[in-house]
Amino acid sequence: MTDDIAALRRLLAASRRAVVFTGAGISTESGIPDFRSPTGMWAKVKPIMFQDYVASAEWRAEAWKRKFEHEHTMRAAEPNRGHRAVARLVREGKVDAVITQNIDGLHQASGIPERQIVELHGNATYAHCLDCGERYEIDALRLAWERDGVVHDCLKCDGIIKTATVSFGQAMPEAAMLRAREATLAADLFIVLGSSLVVYPAAGFPPLAKRNRARLVIVNHEPTDQDELADLVIHHGIGDVMGGAVGVN
Ligand code: NAD
Ligand code: ZN
Repeated sequence: MTDDIAALRRLLAASRRAVVFTGAGISTESGIPDFRSPTGMWAKVKPIMFQDYVASAEWRAEAWKRKFEHEHTMRAAEPNRGHRAVARLVREGKVDAVITQNIDGLHQASGIPERQIVELHGNATYAHCLDCGERYEIDALRLAWERDGVVHDCLKCDGIIKTATVSFGQAMPEAAMLRAREATLAADLFIVLGSSLVVYPAAGFPPLAKRNRARLVIVNHEPTDQDELADLVIHHGIGDVMGGAVGVN
């Protein structure tokens, strides 16, 4: 692993504009389970499709039950060594943008300015109305849920309220997709941290970077289908690899 870290350091030193692309794997060291690891969420439950959420009050109830059960883990989570290393690279001006599939807000919590974070799959730390966009805080929704057993519809327009995340079957946020594309095309080094790279269109960004002649690095416990595209693949924990490469404890 020492050689791998040295190789990553060299790539970082040679880069003038790097982009970091993160998946659930960067947050496991903060205690948030990922999806596809053997200990991931999907070993236990299947995802709820957007169409089912919209069509059925039962699925909505199930989604909120899962959300509130998971909430204490999310709340307790703090940025880990991997997040801190990425934040340092941003602070030093080495990394221009962090494109994330995560919905946990931990890049923000690590001190990276909002304008340098692109959330491809939204954010689970608040909710909004699917029709008028009105924002709702999770705590307020939980109170109603505990009292009435349901999350009510939008107070303004009767629309359905959902966490501000992008579910399977739901359209991608256009502005975020555009920003991610721009950042990817401006990068000379593209570093993937903790993603199985199977969820598209998000997983299309590393190959796009590569086609645009950026160097590609993948740090992930398990192999991915894109490993063969990469200039450097490191199958180790993100905290140790990034912390080691950047000099962050
Ligand atoms: P994924 O679960 O499909 O893949 C995570 C990958 O990270 C796995 O291949 C695993 O081997 C690797 N990994 C886990 N911990 C690691 C560590 N400490 N060091 C190195 N590698 C590690 O996750 P994905 O690719 O992000 O796609 C799943 C979807 O799940 C995303 O769309 C995301 O929105 C959502 N999700 C987000 C969170 C979060 O916000 N923290 C958590 C679960 C799922
Ligand atoms: Zn509304």
